[in-house]
Amino acid sequence: MLPTPSDLTLDEIQQRFGTDENARRYLEEIRWPNGVVCPHCKNADQKRIWEIQANDAAKIRAGLYQCAECKKQFTVTVGTIFEDSHIPLRKWLVAWYLLCSSKKGMSSLQIQRMLGLGSYRTALFMMHRIRYALAHPAFTGMLKGVVEVDETYVGGKTHGRGTGKGTPNKTCVVSLVERGGNARSFVLDRITGQNLKGAIMQHVQDGSVVVTDDYFGYRPMPKIFTHKPVKHSAKEYARKEGDFTVHTNTVESKFSLLKRGIIGTFHQVSKKHLPLYLAEFDHRFNHRDVTDGERTVSALKMAEGKRLTLKPLKNRGK
Ligand SMILES: [Zn+2]
Repeated sequence: MLPTPSDLTLDEIQQRFGTDENARRYLEEIRWPNGVVCPHCKNADQKRIWEIQANDAAKIRAGLYQCAECKKQFTVTVGTIFEDSHIPLRKWLVAWYLLCSSKKGMSSLQIQRMLGLGSYRTALFMMHRIRYALAHPAFTGMLKGVVEVDETYVGGKTHGRGTGKGTPNKTCVVSLVERGGNARSFVLDRITGQNLKGAIMQHVQDGSVVVTDDYFGYRPMPKIFTHKPVKHSAKEYARKEGDFTVHTNTVESKFSLLKRGIIGTFHQVSKKHLPLYLAEFDHRFNHRDVTDGERTVSALKMAEGKRLTLKPLKNRGK
């Protein structure tokens, strides 16, 4: 029997999915929990799909299906980020697990060593593909309730040029965190009131309470929200209003984890690739209360439908 996501550990992955055949079966379970679906025409009638017998002599690999509706063949990797990859599926599984279970992220160099991959580039490409899948979730709804919003500057060695807002080689990031819920983080071209409020309007439901610091860009907040600024400039970090505490500690601690990850694990992240890392950190944050295994399986479910828009990462760089 396959392990449930909650008891999926690295040891378990290596024991159970040490072969590509088993890794493939597991991916099939995750992708098709209610039976095989043809990725070409979405046919899900199990009587109209059959598995072609593996046959070494005829070079037919296991896991090949034939759809009777559209007459096309497919495997579980068709239409996912795994399609056309030469990296064995068992290694992919371990990579997803490591990315999902490492709080501050894991460098591609370390992934290369742990998985015995041929080159650093292969490892980097693999990790970016996973991040790419995580970066494009189907947002099912708006953030609501109490939403903490904060902006920060990431990366860019400053060499004595200061670290304040507007430092030229730093990248602006805004993060919106629903208290007790999910987070979404984005790169902004510039931190302006218009950009910040645009992000809030786009992702936060009308009627929500928006908590920010007292940066002037947040004012005036659109009237559809209740704005609760905390006055950092006056050294106010938390304020009680009845049962409600006005603070931005949740989003700030999320930023500090991101920065420790970028400084400690990745060292330097280009502006171009930063959205991928933000997605990685958001995914771990949004699944913070579940096991490493459950977090991995939710991530794997996002592997589908990401194939078509993925462009190869031509330039070396993080
Ligand atoms: Zn079909």
